[in-house]
Amino acid sequence: MKNSHCYTRCLLTLLIVLVSFPAFSQQKPNITILATGGTIAGAAGSGAQSGYTSGQVTIDAMINAVPDVLNLADISGEQISNVGSQDMSFDIMLKLAHRIEELASNQEADGVVITHGTDTMEETAYFLNLVVKADIPVVLVGSMRPSTAISADGPLNLYNAVAVAADPNARGLGVLLVMNDWIHSAQTLTKVSTTAVQTFMSPLRGLIGTTAYGVNDFYRTPDQRFGKSSEFSVSGVTELPRVDIIYGSADMSADLITAAVELGAKGIVVAGVGNGNMNKASLEACAEASKKGVVVVRSTRVATGTVGRNVETDDDALGLIASYNLNPQKSRVLLSVALLEQRGLDEMQRIFVEY
Ligand code: GLU
Repeated sequence: MKNSHCYTRCLLTLLIVLVSFPAFSQQKPNITILATGGTIAGAAGSGAQSGYTSGQVTIDAMINAVPDVLNLADISGEQISNVGSQDMSFDIMLKLAHRIEELASNQEADGVVITHGTDTMEETAYFLNLVVKADIPVVLVGSMRPSTAISADGPLNLYNAVAVAADPNARGLGVLLVMNDWIHSAQTLTKVSTTAVQTFMSPLRGLIGTTAYGVNDFYRTPDQRFGKSSEFSVSGVTELPRVDIIYGSADMSADLITAAVELGAKGIVVAGVGNGNMNKASLEACAEASKKGVVVVRSTRVATGTVGRNVETDDDALGLIASYNLNPQKSRVLLSVALLEQRGLDEMQRIFVEY
């Protein structure tokens, strides 16, 4: 009697487990595509035309162009914005973050794909990686060629992005970017070519995985803090503090650093030369800014490598922060989010090490 009771309970548990897995229940995952614009939604007058307008194609038209995605998932689309990503704003990024949290907490989506222009995709990806707590897969995707081009890359990129967002193995990996068969972490990726289809690289830490015609292979999990392990939240936040980026060069003028402070910047990122260096006049202006309470981060204009603390610059004495792995545009995102709360310089430096 006791045995048959246990047998029935085990059978019931097994059935519940089986029906909760899409592969056994034949239920497809629900994927929501949040469209923001970009070349993937761009259109030109002819297939060989290099000039085109971003954000011309709606999300419904994009899904209709890749009907195969309907074999991977039940898809719903929402138009969040329709801009070239040169016009991406913290306002739109906040809208994305809030909508993803909502979709996850209402259990409306098993994964989210965001279509986005490639120009500032790394900023949006990194921002969402810092602030979205939901651990459903969030995958950014774009294209280098408009939808009307010869060999447009958007349709296959979109197909692969949906395949990654629908994959339970992509859960808990933070925000990902899928383009040209490669799966990148938001933390590592950067855009390296203005026109080539292979434009995204993860130079320091490498790829998260690869995907080919919807078959995914994951190699590693991201090692920096993100998502649930992140201390940042934008719940209730409607605007971010002003942070300016100033580009370093030989014989640079310190005037723009001083001007940024006068114009009300709460943070400054210097895209320094080499290991985040800058000339003496600029260092003095940065130290002055720091004394006034503006947080100054030294990043680099160099494509790869880290910016270390107290290497050629006495950060301790000047009150500056080293960006470590983060390029100027990602340093700006991290600093903007970190400045939402009052934090001392030691705290700020810890944050640049951990994220
Ligand atoms: N400026 C466009 C954008 O970022 C073109 C880049 C692209 O999407 O590939 O939206």
